Amino acid sequence: MTIRCGFIGLGAMGAPMARHLHGAGLLVAVDNRTRSKADALAAELRVRAVRSADNFADCDAVVLCVSLDADVLENVAALARVLKKGALVVDHSTVSVQTARRAAATLAAEGIGFVDAPVSGGVEGARNGTLSVMVGGEADHLEQGRPLLQAYAARISHMGQTGAGQATKAVNQVLVAGINEAVCEGLALAEKLGLDAERLLPTLMAGAAGNWFLGKRGETMLRNEFAPGFKCGHMLKDLRIVQAIAREAGTRTATVEQALADYAVLVERGHGDSDTSALITLKRGG
Ligand code: NAP
Repeated sequence: MTIRCGFIGLGAMGAPMARHLHGAGLLVAVDNRTRSKADALAAELRVRAVRSADNFADCDAVVLCVSLDADVLENVAALARVLKKGALVVDHSTVSVQTARRAAATLAAEGIGFVDAPVSGGVEGARNGTLSVMVGGEADHLEQGRPLLQAYAARISHMGQTGAGQATKAVNQVLVAGINEAVCEGLALAEKLGLDAERLLPTLMAGAAGNWFLGKRGETMLRNEFAPGFKCGHMLKDLRIVQAIAREAGTRTATVEQALADYAVLVERGHGDSDTSALITLKRGG
């Protein structure tokens, strides 16, 4: 039986993911805070642009990819009122473990399933359908949502109970934050040393320093192009989540603290909607 799926949050990640669901023949309705984005995608894909949560009532599943914890909880509260028993909500936003648990409890009270399913792989991963999905929740709910996730995932990992997906994403973001610090610092140094970028980048990529961020953002950051990508504002939000988890766990958080301070400065300087590679502007010593 074909799943009838709705999608909320048509941003840098959500829009290409919704397109993959459409390609798989599963998408029936889309919604977004700024309604014009939903209207445009709905018209293009010939699906419904949702005007209120009631319009999701006939969906078997609704996928979220919104910004903040409050955005997830607001949408979950509205969906809990309208979805039928046995329906499923999949959340791809990066939020706290506590938010995932609250969302699951709100929906469970109405007989609706929930999986926290944050993703990694960037906008390129969303566009190419090669995301790594980190899932928390009941195995049955993951199986129910698997045909949706398969539309845009290269890997789907069941990490444990509700919140385990978000816990995994927090670990992912420690690595991402550290890699970004190192790459931006290294490339800022390379500029000062007058090294030729065209030779430098493939040389670094061919050795032990090669990584996703350098490969995807190295050239553009050296050209001072910071179109997102992954916004500094979202990184700051993620690092606050990571800091709380790490402090509670009692691990050393030197990398996270440095990154938090750096992205806070970038947001203050008006880079909230710039890609995280704008970090090179701080590493240049400005
Ligand atoms: P984005 O480009 O800022 O898109 C967020 C989208 O959600 C926007 O279209 C926004 O609407 C919509 N939205 C926000 N609050 C909403 C609400 N209450 N109801 C309905 N729609 C709402 O962000 P993104 O980069 O796609 O990221 C989305 C989530 O995935 C974030 O939690 C982020 O941390 C995470 N993530 C991002 C990446 C990445 O590389 N970009 C990778 C992995 C995970 P407007 O049009 O009004 O702004």
